[in-house]
Amino acid sequence: MSLRSEPGLVNVPGWEPYPWLLAGFSTREGGVSTAYAAGGPPEQNLGYTPQEDPLQVTTMRLRLADALVQLRPAAHAAGVRPYLVTVRQCHSGRVCRVERSQLPLTNEDGSAILEGDGLYTGDTNLLLGVLTADCVPVLVADKRTHAVAAFHAGWRGTVERIVERGVEALRKQFDCRPQDLIAAIGPSIGPCCFEIGAEVREKFEAQFDYGCELVPEVAGSPHESARRGSDSDGRVHLNLWEANRHQLLDAGLRPAAITVIGECTACARLPDGRRKYFSHRAEQGFTGRMLSLIGAVAL
Ligand SMILES: [Zn+2]
Repeated sequence: MSLRSEPGLVNVPGWEPYPWLLAGFSTREGGVSTAYAAGGPPEQNLGYTPQEDPLQVTTMRLRLADALVQLRPAAHAAGVRPYLVTVRQCHSGRVCRVERSQLPLTNEDGSAILEGDGLYTGDTNLLLGVLTADCVPVLVADKRTHAVAAFHAGWRGTVERIVERGVEALRKQFDCRPQDLIAAIGPSIGPCCFEIGAEVREKFEAQFDYGCELVPEVAGSPHESARRGSDSDGRVHLNLWEANRHQLLDAGLRPAAITVIGECTACARLPDGRRKYFSHRAEQGFTGRMLSLIGAVAL
């Protein structure tokens, strides 16, 4: 296997000490997809998008899962083959519990059966996955019970407080304690590029008492609109990373337990100038998907 075709993967810094924990965020690199490559090297599109060959997506998903296992020597040595579960995403605040007894949880074409925007489980040898191309993937794990969760938080899911709901579900279902939880906020559209209109801004300000803090300030400007990053049309930039970090803190996680990867899917570039991630906004909807995965293995 050539080095170029290795699945591009962003690991969570600081999660190395957990041999039972598989977790990572895919990038555009590696893979065999030419659908959005524009003549460049093949890419890793992990979504069953209209332009993509579904068999290739399934192959690339399995390779990404294998790559995660290989990063954990004990899991690799044990021959662990975790089962991937995804969810039919609908920009909601709904989180779904997954149990091994429910498998396969997919249709014959590989598409997901569960509908919602978050998955959580207390079972091992499952990989929970959410698909994104600008929206925020959030991964959560419990160091004590080994329960895990994955959330898809676009602006709608963030307003629906999907991450807070998800942590609440972990507490209720598995007696998780917030002080035992670790979380990672993955590559997604950053405050640098996420421009919103007045309607979305009002939703955030109505829903969160810290809503106005999510609109980054432009330092030194005397005008209220400019100070809050607004242009003449009232459009502002929204910080979805901070919005979801705030929800994790409100759910009781310690600040040091939350890792923000901090890479923007709309503007991060590889050294050769190609896009590092698929970006729905930057590519006007014609693009692939990243897959963010988390699972616990029984060792
Ligand atoms: Zn950006």
